[in-house]
Parts: sequence; structure tokens; C-alpha cells
Amino acid sequence: MARKAFITGVTGQDGSYLAELLLSKGYEVHGLVRKESTFNTSRIDHLLVDPFEPERKFFSYYGDLSDGATLTNLLYDIRPDEVYHLGAQTNSKVSFDLPEYTGDITALGTIRLLEAIRRSGIKVKFYNASSFEIFGTSPPPYNENTPFYPKSPFGGAKAYAFWMTANYRKDYKLFASSGILFDHESPRRFESTPTRKTTRAIAQILAAKEKFLYLGSIEPTKDWGYAPEYVETMWLMLQQEKADDYVIGTGVSHSVGEFVKEAFDYVGLDWERYLKKDPRPHRPTGPTLIADASKAKRELGWEPRVTFKELVRIMVDADIETLGLTRPGEGKTILAKHNLNYGNRASGNPTGGLEEWPGLLRK
Ligand code: NAP
Repeated sequence: MARKAFITGVTGQDGSYLAELLLSKGYEVHGLVRKESTFNTSRIDHLLVDPFEPERKFFSYYGDLSDGATLTNLLYDIRPDEVYHLGAQTNSKVSFDLPEYTGDITALGTIRLLEAIRRSGIKVKFYNASSFEIFGTSPPPYNENTPFYPKSPFGGAKAYAFWMTANYRKDYKLFASSGILFDHESPRRFESTPTRKTTRAIAQILAAKEKFLYLGSIEPTKDWGYAPEYVETMWLMLQQEKADDYVIGTGVSHSVGEFVKEAFDYVGLDWERYLKKDPRPHRPTGPTLIADASKAKRELGWEPRVTFKELVRIMVDADIETLGLTRPGEGKTILAKHNLNYGNRASGNPTGGLEEWPGLLRK
């Protein structure tokens, strides 16, 4: 029988790539979708199929990380083998505007899910999507022994989620692992990140729809990787004999300015002509972000393949193509070179909607 995975945050960047990865491995994938008044499934629309399709492998359910009862019911009924917890209020900057909400969803949402697993009595392996933001003001490089000094409500909420995952592993003997991931980008990254702002602005400038790219400070340095490679580590963590925590990153740091220059250079535009300073106040630049992912290399056999330059090309190409323009075109060659083209991407959604819980499970 096919193994079953349950993913929170399936409509997000990582959730959508992870769903594709697991489907390609023969899993049955069940995803939690937040009920919005607008469509929020654009990243997974190609996975949604007619609910009456007997061969379907992808199922989606409305639910929210604020609603523990629904999480318990879903887990009890689905009985997944693996739970990937990616859902969260993920924007660190927004967490200063919404500190209480961020704590509720990102921190308490994790304990609700852990309790749902415990209360439903099912035997699962649990992955918690932790973040480099738990390290905060600690100096680089960052590994599994680096102390946590989170400096945002988001980082604090992720630190809480990390420790709760570790406690459930120790106290309840749950197979529970946290991946402490550094920034990972893709054409599906949310649009307010400096990377997507840049690649989208380039496409808009080429299409003569915008004149400039507005960014805050271009000093901050990041350890940027390519998201589809990072979701592979989530799966790998749950295939180990023992649950544990792993730092995931490239070990190479680049500034936002370097990303901007590389992206504009790729399409033959002079970045200095187009970049304007967003005059609003910005957070002070933090420490240089450099991951030490040697434990993941040693124990998971994982190493990133997509380089910084390649990542930029993949992202620029994708945003240009979305506007129907001809792209420079190296992105596809890079993906093929690294064997990173997952299948199942264009099946579409003939019914256009989601089933309401709990009807789907009544077979
Ligand atoms: P993302 O694109 O922002 O996706 C977040 C997901 O969480 C979306 O599916 C979102 O649903 C869902 N969500 C938000 N609030 C929810 C709620 N109240 N109930 C249920 N679902 C809710 O984030 P991502 O980049 O894929 O990241 C995945 C995870 O990895 C996150 O936990 C993130 O903090 C962590 N992480 C990411 C990075 C990175 O660089 N991408 C780095 C370190 C850690 P909607 O689609 O409805 O908004």
C-alpha cells in the first residue's frame, strides 16, 4: 500500500514542492489548506484533480493551525505515516506587526499539531520546519549546537516550536525531527522577499510595466539555496533510523545587492539605473548568514547542487516567462542538468475547487 503523508502549508512554496516530490515517490499526499475568501491554491492547482477520479493520489482539506480539533480529526481519519509541518505565519518582518498572531499560528500551531498526533494515537514520523531565525544574534557559522537568540517574534515562535518538537521526541518517544533551514528560494517564493521582488521587477521592467525596483537595505547577507533541493532533506530526515535535528544551507553567503546585480546582469540591464531605495525604515542588518550543514552531509548524504548564480537564472527566467516574454533561457538547462524537473506539474484542476472536510473521507 502507498505510504501516506500529511502536509501543513501545502499551498506554500515548500509544501507544493514537497507534495510533488512525495507524489513522484509513490506517496498518497494529504494537504491542509487554509480557508480564504480568495484562491490560495495557485502553487498546487496542477495537483488538484477531480474528486471522483479513482486513481487520485493528492487530497486536500480545509483546516487551520488555530483549530486543534480539526487537526486531530484529520489525523485520526487520514492516519498518515509521515507528517510534514510546514504551515506558519512565515514572514519575519510581518511578525513585528502581528506578534500575537505569529505566536498563535507559528508557535502554538505546532503544539496543536503535536497534541493532535498524541491524542489521535496514531504512529507517525513528524517533521518540523524550523528556521535559521532561531539563531538571531548568535555569530556565524551556524550548526546544530549554536545557541538560540531569536530577535523577532517569528524567530521566537520558531524556537518554541523547535523545543516542543524536541520535547515530544524525548518525553513521548515521537519520531520528531526539526530541519533548521536557511533561506531557500524559487519561482514559487512569496513575492515580498528581496529575491522575488527583484526577479519580478526585472520581468516588469522588460515588459515596460514598471520603471524601477524598490528595495530596503541591500547590505544583508543570506545563505540562499534552491527550494526543491531543500524539501528533499525533509523527506530524508524522516527516512533515518533515529529522529534528530539538522541545519540545512549552502555554506555560502551573498548580499541582497549581489543578488540584484547578478539578476540584472543576466538580462543585460544595468542594475544601478533601476534600483531605488525604499525610504521606509528597515531593521538593522544582522550577522552574516552562513550555514554549517556538515551534519546533513555526513548523516543524510545531502549536499546542495544548485549554485547561487544558477538559482538567480532559474528565478529570473520563470518570472519573465510568466509575463509571456522570451527569457534568456538558461534556467531550464540548469534544472535538467541537476535532474530537478519533477513530474506531475500540469494536470490542472477540472473541478476548480476543494472538497469540504469531512466528506472526502467517506468512501
Ligand atoms: P510559505 O510559502 O509562506 O508557506 C506557508 C504556508 O503556511 C502556506 O501554505 C500558508 O497558507 C500556510 N499557513 C499560514 N497560516 C496558516 C494557518 N493559520 N493555518 C494553516 N496554514 C497556514 O512558506 P515556505 O517558504 O513554503 O516555508 C515553509 C516552512 O519552512 C515555513 O514554516 C517556514 O517558516 C519554514 N522556513 C522557510 C524558509 C524559506 O526560506 N522558505 C527558511 C526557513 C524556514 P496560505 O497559502 O493560505 O497562506
